[in-house]
Amino acid sequence: MSDSVEVKVPDIGDFKDVPIIEVLVKVGDTVQAEDSLITLESDKATMDVPSPVSGVVTELKVKVGDKVAEGSVVAMISAAAADAPAKVPAGTQSAGTTAVPVASAPIPLSPSPSPAEGRGQATTAPATATFAGKVDLECEMLVLGAGPGGYSAAFRAADLGMKTLIVERYATLGGVCMNVGCIPSKALLHVAAVIDEAHHMAETGIGFAAPVVDIDKLRMHKEKVIGKLTGGLTGMAKARKVEVVRGYGHFLDAWHLEVETMTGDAQEKTGERKVVRFQKCIIAAGSAAVHLPFIPRDPRIVDSTGALELRFVPKKMLVIGGGIIGLEMATVYSTLGARVDVVEMLDGLMQGPDRDLVKVWEKQNAKRFDKVMLKTKTVAVEAREDGLWVRFEGEQAPADAQCYDMILQSAGRVPNGRKIGADKAGVVVNERGFIPVDSQMRTNVPHIQAIGDIVGQPMLAHKAVHEAHVAAEAAAGQKSHFDATVIPGVAYTHPEVAWVGVGEDEAKQAGRKVSSAKFPWAASGRAIANGAEYGFTKLVFDDSDGNGAHRVIGGSIVGPNAGDMIGEVALAIEMGADAVDIGKTIHPHPTLGETIGMAAEVAHGSCTDLPPMRRK
Ligand SMILES: Cc1cc2nc3c(=O)[nH]c(=O)nc-3n(C[C@H](O)[C@H](O)[C@H](O)COP(=O)(O)OP(=O)(O)OC[C@H]3O[C@@H](n4cnc5c(N)ncnc54)[C@H](O)[C@@H]3O)c2cc1C
Repeated sequence: MSDSVEVKVPDIGDFKDVPIIEVLVKVGDTVQAEDSLITLESDKATMDVPSPVSGVVTELKVKVGDKVAEGSVVAMISAAAADAPAKVPAGTQSAGTTAVPVASAPIPLSPSPSPAEGRGQATTAPATATFAGKVDLECEMLVLGAGPGGYSAAFRAADLGMKTLIVERYATLGGVCMNVGCIPSKALLHVAAVIDEAHHMAETGIGFAAPVVDIDKLRMHKEKVIGKLTGGLTGMAKARKVEVVRGYGHFLDAWHLEVETMTGDAQEKTGERKVVRFQKCIIAAGSAAVHLPFIPRDPRIVDSTGALELRFVPKKMLVIGGGIIGLEMATVYSTLGARVDVVEMLDGLMQGPDRDLVKVWEKQNAKRFDKVMLKTKTVAVEAREDGLWVRFEGEQAPADAQCYDMILQSAGRVPNGRKIGADKAGVVVNERGFIPVDSQMRTNVPHIQAIGDIVGQPMLAHKAVHEAHVAAEAAAGQKSHFDATVIPGVAYTHPEVAWVGVGEDEAKQAGRKVSSAKFPWAASGRAIANGAEYGFTKLVFDDSDGNGAHRVIGGSIVGPNAGDMIGEVALAIEMGADAVDIGKTIHPHPTLGETIGMAAEVAHGSCTDLPPMRRK
């Protein structure tokens, strides 16, 4: 029998006539109780209307642009119709019994606020396997991978009372971010920034001798930084009674994971296998660097992990890929003394931020590079004793092969979705290796969630941590959803480039009406004092009615500490702030951060730190 349920807008406070900005389902979709059906946006908040029951959407009473208030009927759900296909018994097996095969029908996947590639791409689920063998360990929550996503999910799950177990192949927790990513790169970038700054001090009358680089000591410093953080994680796992099983995990079915256990500093297999039965699972297996097929194996050719090992400082280095990771490593190596060329297939370096920020970055970094070859491809590499000989093709390709002492391949990262036996668990992995998830980070198999790099772009640690908390809380029965409006991006180069939300370039391309306000750091006392007057802060506002600055929807900063400041703009966007809200917030003086307030003042015409603005 089918119960037809009217879904009404719940109590949304004093808001009336709130526009619908997104309809997340269509007629015929199967939804779970608490899945979001529509998104409303008032001038101060974005709210989702959840389904009160599991079922099938039989009628939609609203569309994007309609205005609703508390009690408005938005959809009809047939409650009983959905019960049969999607129900999965969670955590009901006892030791030694056969696992119940999970439903193979994908659950509906709601779109992401970010360009997360994994989200929203439901494909037919693979048929699940069934494991009936011996079980060695049992847990309520299994987390596969101990990167920022994995350890955060495991710790949150344990804090919420779940018996939690992490499977991680490496000897230390922390994943790419702490061991071979964010943290070691920032430890080296800090050293590079100090060297660069000391060099610039000559202009102020303070001269330092040329730096003496002791690469072994620098490597030890970087290892010490990593050790402090990963050691801290081990302690925190113990304090929470989170069990860590060292080894390579792959699914046997939707309730069991086999671990090939490992030992030593690298990935030495012990030959032993352990089977873990779980009631719930969060996949946080991350991503790996892309290796271009035509590039030979040679110790002088490295990916970001190899570059961070700091084995030697080359005289001449080629960076393949002008993205953030490549440019951060280029900054480190060039400051340590390498001459660097960069080759990039696209028409610009550092895709993501508006081009006006990248222009400032390029000007400040012009001396760092011998050649920046845009719209150019590396087509062949020959590893000879006298060097790595590289041929290029494209608009800025040199006619002859070029010789390098080191090549950094930083042509992107691929998710590890195809390496964990996800098909045996019935979990959908899309053609690019990402695992599609809904806003509670659930895969098509409801008791298995996925987070971090493996679910889509942007591949960033702070996104992984945020998703981790949502996943653990949802698994514990809380109503957490991934509903962040924006995810900031930062290049920790010199100068730093940080951006969040809608960019001016992107808005122009999409034909979206925006206005922008820029505060040049040439008018900031602190920036001038710090020798950073080349920077600027820009805010982007919604201008859909053509009346100028309304809600802030984006922002970007180029200059030292831009990454530390962009969080304020992200908060302003999330809170629905407008130019007056930001401009009237008192920022401390003299700081670089006050340039955000001043950019907002530029937007509403009240800035007194710039020449008078033309009256409108
Ligand atoms: C050089 C570099 C610099 C970066 N800098 C920044 C930065 O400044 N800011 C930022 O936000 N992001 C940065 N990133 C990206 C960031 O590191 C990732 O987005 C983040 O680590 C993703 O977290 P995750 O938990 O999804 O996966 P990961 O950190 O990749 O962790 C996945 C873990 O799963 C383990 N694993 C995988 N498969 C298995 C298996 N089958 N069995 C057992 N264990 C398995 C892996 O060993 C790994 O420890 C950087 C990345 C690189 C490479």
